Amino acid sequence: MGRLTGKTALVTGSSRGIGRAVAVRLAEQGALVAVHYTSNEEAARETVTTIEKDGGSAFAVRAELGVPGDVDELFGGLAEGLRERTGTSGLSILVNNAAVKVAGPVEDATPEDFDRLYAVNVKAPFFLIQRALPHLSEGGRVINISSGLTRLGDPSSVTYAMTKGALEQLAPHLAKLLGPRGITINTVLPGATRTGAAFWEDPALVEEITEMSALKRVGEAGDVADVVTFLASDEARWITGSSVDATGGSLVA
Ligand code: NDP
Repeated sequence: MGRLTGKTALVTGSSRGIGRAVAVRLAEQGALVAVHYTSNEEAARETVTTIEKDGGSAFAVRAELGVPGDVDELFGGLAEGLRERTGTSGLSILVNNAAVKVAGPVEDATPEDFDRLYAVNVKAPFFLIQRALPHLSEGGRVINISSGLTRLGDPSSVTYAMTKGALEQLAPHLAKLLGPRGITINTVLPGATRTGAAFWEDPALVEEITEMSALKRVGEAGDVADVVTFLASDEARWITGSSVDATGGSLVA
């Protein structure tokens, strides 16, 4: 029996990358996982298949975040999937992982890009939590995925880092609201983490990222997923309102 047997989880943006690794780990521990995506249905199906092959349970839910009606669409699909499989729409674990990243010179930033970043990375997680509140019960978990870039100066990522800084406010403030119900909320800060992104093909960049880490290797999606899975477990019941560094020591001065 896994540590999360009987739990249900929604992992936003779990068709690929870190989100996929989180979905797989939560399912390995026994949770029924809603694999959320927006455009890459094939990748979402692959996540579900991987989980099912290992004996876990999952289903895919599509919804574009950052557009009007996003939360309604996501929760419609989520509730339907949960009810079909469990008979209720009760949600134990919400992982706000989906995000858009924009990097480039400050001079090239546009108000449209700025608004989109905030809509997907800040507004959507806030309203997903608001919507999830009545469905979360004692022992519930909310985990938001930020970035080590909120602790590191990088002019080319300022707007993205600003959204993650805003996201990090949710844990300390909402911990006081959710605590009396036995629900924790925390933030995980990954460092550069190897996913399918093209820049991981550049050996010079990989070397630079390796050197940044106190552990002298690059972060893998599974490294971050294990931290998230711990926070989702009963073992982490006494941690709330916290930001957890999952950068492999890349922020150590
Ligand atoms: P990826 O770019 O690999 O995957 C993004 C996921 O989010 C996909 O599942 C994608 O769905 C979904 N998504 C993107 N935009 C939207 C949207 N508008 N509406 C709904 N779903 C959307 O992400 P990573 O694995 O790299 O990053 C995951 C999290 O970790 C993010 O919050 C990121 O900021 C953070 N992070 C990542 C780091 C890294 O080095 N990878 C470092 C620090 C933080 P679809 O497949 O359908 O497109």
